[in-house]
Amino acid sequence: MRLRNIKNAKEKLEKYQELVHPDPFQNHGKWQEIFKNTNPLHLEIGMGKGKFIWENAIKNPHINFLGLEVSSSIMLRAARKIIVARPANLYLINIDANELNQVFGKEEVTKIYLNFSDPWPKNRHEKRRLTSESFLKLYQEILIDNGEIELKTDNRNFYEYSLISLNNFGYKFLEVNLNLHENNTEEIITTEYEEKFKQLGKTIYYLKVMK
Ligand code: SAH
Repeated sequence: MRLRNIKNAKEKLEKYQELVHPDPFQNHGKWQEIFKNTNPLHLEIGMGKGKFIWENAIKNPHINFLGLEVSSSIMLRAARKIIVARPANLYLINIDANELNQVFGKEEVTKIYLNFSDPWPKNRHEKRRLTSESFLKLYQEILIDNGEIELKTDNRNFYEYSLISLNNFGYKFLEVNLNLHENNTEEIITTEYEEKFKQLGKTIYYLKVMK
């Protein structure tokens, strides 16, 4: 599902400053001031075109949402869509997840969503997986006590890897679901990838853990 790069995407994002925060590094530990309230903060890392975080923000006005995306081109596609009806409790930030602790202070985040993260199947790319130990160390710093991580993926190997990695790190498992769309009682807010995989009849794996 490769999207073409948009020329000068980074500059084009400047037009969307009310939605795409222009300098997230300046707000280290101060996101409550940006949202002008003390509501819990939820992050989606690798939000893609933003359907999931947008719908979540509309549905949950008492939670603050931040969508992270490393690709300026993908973020621009998201911004063009969301700007039409931007909920006040949503910002997007164009950063790499490995910069997380430059943007968030200690225990500033209540929940992290990892939806259809790149699985990086080769062993030599393990460090790039968003559930590898070095990323879990970053999440550990910014998550509150009892903070949660929710993960959805269609990739069985990445799912198994994540189960082991989170378990080794000491996370407590709240939910493990090997077929989210078959075995669920609550309404599911889907992502763009999830919609495609659902149509293809693929199994979606889910887990929820607590710090
Ligand atoms: N969550 C979306 C997109 C999944 S694709 C969905 O389910 O539809 C994975 C996304 O993560 C891509 O858009 C990719 O650019 C982004 N991504 C990959 N590595 C990242 C990183 N280190 N930091 C932030 N975003 C990242």
